[in-house]
Amino acid sequence: PQRPAIDVDDYAARIRAGERAALARAITLVESRRTDHQAAARALVQSLLPDTGKAVRIGITGVPGVGKSTTIDALGSRLTAAGHRVAVLAVDPSSTRTGGSILGDKTRMNRLALDPNAYVRPSPSAGTLGGVAAKTRESMLLAEAAGFDVILVETVGIGQSEVAVADMTDVFLVLMLPGAGDELQGIKKGVLEIADIIAVNKADGDGAAGARAAAAEYKAALRILDAQSGAWEPEVLTISGRADLNLDTLWSRVLACRAAREAAGELRARRERQQVRWMWTMVEARFRERLAEDSRLAERLPALERAVASGETAPTMAADEIARVLGF
Ligand code: GDP
Repeated sequence: PQRPAIDVDDYAARIRAGERAALARAITLVESRRTDHQAAARALVQSLLPDTGKAVRIGITGVPGVGKSTTIDALGSRLTAAGHRVAVLAVDPSSTRTGGSILGDKTRMNRLALDPNAYVRPSPSAGTLGGVAAKTRESMLLAEAAGFDVILVETVGIGQSEVAVADMTDVFLVLMLPGAGDELQGIKKGVLEIADIIAVNKADGDGAAGARAAAAEYKAALRILDAQSGAWEPEVLTISGRADLNLDTLWSRVLACRAAREAAGELRARRERQQVRWMWTMVEARFRERLAEDSRLAERLPALERAVASGETAPTMAADEIARVLGF
């Protein structure tokens, strides 16, 4: 049956007018696997491109339970009260919409979920990290075109998703738990290397002293790491998302980081690099899709993998064969 055509211009106009319902439907197009939806989503993003880029883009990571949703709910509510429009997006390649706690889940951010000046969207459902991140990026552009001037992109501290989120934002924030002694052992050095701001959360009540001690340890750890050369030296502070402590300072440091990068020309350079890397990620994702969809390869791959595993066929030879089958 003939599918009704998607009126991209109408979508674009409604998004420019800041209609949240249109934004939500457009993001659904971005996330859809249907080729007509994907084509419409691409046209929509292209047509809205001039309306994007003005938001403060912030990445937030931290282990489950560190207080990401609590902090985002509190910080976001402060920002909307101050006149901002806040979109919360997520990158969680392991998420499925049916079970478990989903990043960006509305029920985890009670105040923002009811706030007319906020838009909370869960992670696109499971897929490759590159694929999920690409969808979140496009959603971010749509939210910017809809007039959201603060974009918070949340991710769980597992796998490479922090890098993907740092690679789509201006400022990268890492939430930590008090108890740095143990925590530092397990923390991936890579996360400290991409952190612009480390906020030790739960610095309230009995947790205050532990949080201060942890902050001191993180400061020391950052000094040992080679300082990221550039306009911004990473900072450490203590906050409480639940008791709403120090969130104004946190926000002012986020703005300070972004402003320092902007003044040094780094913000622009960073975004330019991000765009180009995004393009290549998309290219790789499409190659992988082609690979996955190729029926001749599907038949051949198990035997080829076995041959490579047993040492009978060299990996290079196998790669050549796969490339030949795919036509390059
Ligand atoms: P997420 O998994 O990182 O999103 O963490 P949540 O925001 O869901 O918080 C996990 C648990 O920590 C919840 O029980 C929160 O109430 C609690 N929590 C979050 N922030 C704070 C805080 O600043 N202080 C204290 N004491 N508890 C907090």
